[in-house]
Amino acid sequence: MKTKDDIHNERREICRTIALGAVATGLGFNRFAWAQDDTKPLPEHIEFQRLVAANRILANENVVDAFGHVSVRHPDNPNRYVMSRALSPALVEYADLIEFELDGTPIDAQGRRGYGERMIHGAVYEAREDVNAVIHHHAYSVVPYGVTSQPLVPLTHTASVIGKHVPVWDIADKFGDTDTLARTMEKGRDLAATLADNTCVLMRGHGAVVVGAAVQEAVISAVYLEINARLLTQALSFGETPKILSDREVELARNTQFSSLGRDRAWEYFCRRAGVEPI
Ligand code: MN
Repeated sequence: MKTKDDIHNERREICRTIALGAVATGLGFNRFAWAQDDTKPLPEHIEFQRLVAANRILANENVVDAFGHVSVRHPDNPNRYVMSRALSPALVEYADLIEFELDGTPIDAQGRRGYGERMIHGAVYEAREDVNAVIHHHAYSVVPYGVTSQPLVPLTHTASVIGKHVPVWDIADKFGDTDTLARTMEKGRDLAATLADNTCVLMRGHGAVVVGAAVQEAVISAVYLEINARLLTQALSFGETPKILSDREVELARNTQFSSLGRDRAWEYFCRRAGVEPI
């Protein structure tokens, strides 16, 4: 029979194991076998540090889950972009970042595999000189607006950042029955054409793409696209036609949200909530 001391010691051992596991995870020792712990990371750059923060924020705010990804255009070479190796955004660290040509060719993959749908990012950078960050996600609250005729319209001032119009890209229009993933440049370019000069585009039966002039803006727009989708679903459930923001209200509110004051305040908040230092 176990004595009180035995039980106490067993409990202490369990606590010790949990604590050691937590420390090991924090130090990055507890990664999966395929993690590249000997990877030579990209040179230190504030934009790449922000990219790591963006990954953590998007996971923390339920924009991405196991899937989804975010990239930044290379600040020193507009013909390249940087994003994580294929990994859930919540787990991304600096050493996971890889540089790519716009056509999706990795510069120095060091055996790491890129996301299958990274072509979306290159195709958007190719089409939009003003875009320096791209997010692709599957946030489930937006999906109903990609499969019905109900447009995803901004209805609250903080969500004005999503823009007046959110178009829908249907992969089947040009490519027929597929797994709905945009894994080629041809599909990425078709999607970028539907995005046109908007901030967001929905992908029918799949998710969305959100872009920004800076990674902070893309992240803020992606977070509020998800929130706005939930609010719109609520408003529509009342059975009335919601009074949405006018085009002019969207412009004015967007300017306020993306003033340096508004942008930095939101970025700092989302960084802290995600447990990363605001940078
Ligand atoms: Mn996807």
